[in-house]
Amino acid sequence: MAESVLQTEIQYLHGVGPKRAALLGRELGIETVGDLIRLYPFRYIDRSEIHKIASLTPTAAYVQVAGLVKSAKLYGKAGQEILEGGVIKFNLVSRLSLIISDGTGDLEVVFFKGVKWMYTKLRPGTSWLFFGKISVFNGRLNLAHPEVDTLPSPEAMEAGGTMVGVYPSTENLKNAGITGKVMTKLMTSALGMALPEIRESLPEYIIREKGLVPLRYAIRNIHFPADTAALNKAAYRLKFEELFYLQLSLLKQKFIRSREAHGIMMPKVGEAFHRCYDALPFELTGAQKRVITDIRDDMRSGSQMNRLLQGDVGSGKTMVAVLSALIAIGNGYQACIMAPTEVLAQQHFANISRYLAPTGVEAALLTGSTGVKERRRIHAGIEDGSIGLLIGTHALIEETVVFKSLGLAIVDEQHRFGVEQRSKLWSKSSAGAPPHVLVMTATPIPRTLAMTLYGDLDVSLINEMPPGRKPVQTIQIGEDQRSSLHRFMRDQIALGRQIFVVYPLIFESEKIDLANLEKGYEDIVAAFPFPPYKVAIVHGQQSAEEKQFNMSAFAAGRANILVSTTVIEVGVDVPNASVMVIESAERFGLSQLHQLRGRVGRGSEKSYCVLVRGKKVAAESRKRLDLLCSTEDGFALAEADLKMRGPGDLEGTQQSGLPVELSIASLARDGEILADARAYAEHILTGDPTISSPANAILASELRRDKYQVRDFSKIS
Ligand code: ADP
Ligand code: MG
Repeated sequence: MAESVLQTEIQYLHGVGPKRAALLGRELGIETVGDLIRLYPFRYIDRSEIHKIASLTPTAAYVQVAGLVKSAKLYGKAGQEILEGGVIKFNLVSRLSLIISDGTGDLEVVFFKGVKWMYTKLRPGTSWLFFGKISVFNGRLNLAHPEVDTLPSPEAMEAGGTMVGVYPSTENLKNAGITGKVMTKLMTSALGMALPEIRESLPEYIIREKGLVPLRYAIRNIHFPADTAALNKAAYRLKFEELFYLQLSLLKQKFIRSREAHGIMMPKVGEAFHRCYDALPFELTGAQKRVITDIRDDMRSGSQMNRLLQGDVGSGKTMVAVLSALIAIGNGYQACIMAPTEVLAQQHFANISRYLAPTGVEAALLTGSTGVKERRRIHAGIEDGSIGLLIGTHALIEETVVFKSLGLAIVDEQHRFGVEQRSKLWSKSSAGAPPHVLVMTATPIPRTLAMTLYGDLDVSLINEMPPGRKPVQTIQIGEDQRSSLHRFMRDQIALGRQIFVVYPLIFESEKIDLANLEKGYEDIVAAFPFPPYKVAIVHGQQSAEEKQFNMSAFAAGRANILVSTTVIEVGVDVPNASVMVIESAERFGLSQLHQLRGRVGRGSEKSYCVLVRGKKVAAESRKRLDLLCSTEDGFALAEADLKMRGPGDLEGTQQSGLPVELSIASLARDGEILADARAYAEHILTGDPTISSPANAILASELRRDKYQVRDFSKIS
C-alpha cells in the first residue's frame, strides 16, 4: 500500500477531526487511515433477512428485527414499575422493558445492564434494528440484551449490496455520535482515498497457487460486500493471509533455531535407562514408547530439543520424564524436573525415587520449604555432579542453584509457570549449549491453538491410556439433590473408598473464597460427623507444611473426605479415591473439570464424578456439563471449550496469552484455514528457509511488520 495515504492521521479524514480522532484512537486503537480500513466488520446485516415479528418462534435462535419503540418502562428491584417524571435513580433500576412493533406484531425487548443509556436512546417513537437471541419468558417470546443498531443508511445500501457491515464499537463511541451509520460513512471516504493505493501484500505466485482474490478486492468486499460469495472470498483471503504470516513467522524462528542452535549431543541411551526400564512393573504403552523414541532422537540429533509433551491426565507422562532424564544422565549430564506446586514436587520425588532405585542415580528434592542444611547439601551435590536428578518447584531456578552440567530440563504442567520462570531454565546451561527442554502438559490444547501458541515447538502426544483405567461415571445434579448425594457418599465410604470435594475459586477476593470453602467444610463435617468420619481440608492459604500434612493424611487413608479448592487439580495420585464431587461446577471451565475428574478412576474400583450445579444455572452451562458427562476425551472437550468460550478464556492460555492479536481470523472457527496456512508456510520455508529469494521479497517485508513480530516461544519453555 502507498504508505503516505495509509499513514495519514485519522483526524484529517473527512468527517473526523481532532476530537473524534482522539476517541477512535483511545477506544479502538485507530490512529491512521490504514488502521481504519483494517478494522473489519464483525458481522453483517443482511437486508434481505430482517425477520417479521409475527413469524418468530421460540426456536428461532438469532434473529434480526426492525422495530418501532412503542413503550419503554423501567422496573425496580422489587419488580415495581418506576414511573417517568422526577429523578430516576438508575442504580435502583433492575430492568428496562421495551415493547417494539414492526406492523406484524409486538415483541418485548429487555435490558438488565446499561439501562440508562438504552433508556435515553430508545425512546418511544424511534426505530431501531435489534439483533439477538429469542427466548421465552413467562410463556411469551422476548429478546434480552440484543445488539441495537440504527437502521442501515441509504448510503451504505448504495456502497454495497444488501449486506452492511457492523463495526466494533463502544458506549463512548456511540455517545460521541460515532454510530454504525457514521462508521460506514467514514469507511466509504477512507476507502475512496486508500483503495487505489493499496498494493498487494502476498506474492503473485501465492495468490495464484492458493486461488486467492487480490487484496484490493478483499478489502473492498470485506467492508462493502457485493454479495455473499464476494464476502466469503474476501474473508477467506484476509484470514488465510493473517494465519499464513503468523505461521511463517513462527516457523521461520524454528527453522533458524534448528540450524543454528546446536544442542548437547547425547549419543547413547546408557546403562541407567536400561536398569530402570528392565525393572518396571509394567509394560510401557505404545504411545509412551513412541514419545520416548522421539525424545531420544532429538537428544542425539545435535540440535537442541524443544518438545511439548501433551498427554491426558493419567496417561503416564512421569514415566516418560524419568526415562528421558536417565538418557541425559547416562550421557554424563544432569537433569531437573520442575513442578508447579510443592505437593506435586514431593509426590514426584517419592514416585521417581522408586523408579531410580535400581539405577544408583541420586535424586534430590528442592522446594521452598527445604531446610537450610539440606539445601546446602543439595547445592553442593548439584555443583559437583553427585546429584543426577533434581526435582523441585521454582526453587530450583534460583540463582544459587548451579548445575555442574545440566543437559535436560523438564517442566511439568507448564501452564502454571510464568514466562519469566521458564526462561530462567534456559539460562541454566553450562556446556555452552542450552539444555534440552521437555515441557509436559495435561491440559489438552486443541490443535489449532497449539499450532499458534507453540508453532515453533515440536509436539508429541500420548494418545493412549495405561491399561486398567476404569471409565469415570460422570453425573450432574442440582443443589436440591444434596441429601441423596450424601447418602451415596456414605455408601462409598462404607465400601472403603475416599472422596474429594472441590470448591471453585469464585470471587476475586481470596477471603470470600476461603469463607465459601469453610462453609462447605462445615456442612460436610455436619453431614459426616466424627466419629466415624474424618474430613481433611486443604486450601491455598495454608502453610506448605499444613497442606502437606492434610494431603498425606488423605493419601494415606486417614481421612475419608478431602475438602479443597483446586489445589488438588494437578498431578495428585490417590488410587483409593473413587468419588470426585465438584461444587458449583458451572463455574469451572470444561478443561479444568476434566482435569479434576482425572483425579479419580486411578484405582481398581468403579469411580464417579458428581457435578453439583448451583441454583440459577443458564441452559448453556447445563449443556457444557452435559458434554462433560458424555465424554472422557480431553481433546474433544478442549475443542468444545474453545468453541464455546473463545480462546482468550481457555484455561492454560490465560497466562501465556496469544502470541499475536488476530484481526479477522478466529482460532475457534478457522481451524482448517490455519492448518492449510501452516502447511503452506512450511512448504515455502523448505524452499527458502531464510525468506530471502527475490520471489519472496514481499513476504520478507510483510514479516517485518509489527503485527507479525511474534514472541519467541521457544525461549520460554
Ligand atoms: P500423568 O500423565 O497424569 O502425569 P502419571 O505419570 O502420574 O500420569 O501416571 C499415572 C499412573 O499410571 C501412575 O500410577 C503410573 O505409575 C501409572 N503408569 C504409567 N505408565 C504406565 C503403564 N505403561 N502401564 C501401567 N501403568 C502405568
Ligand atoms: Mg503428572
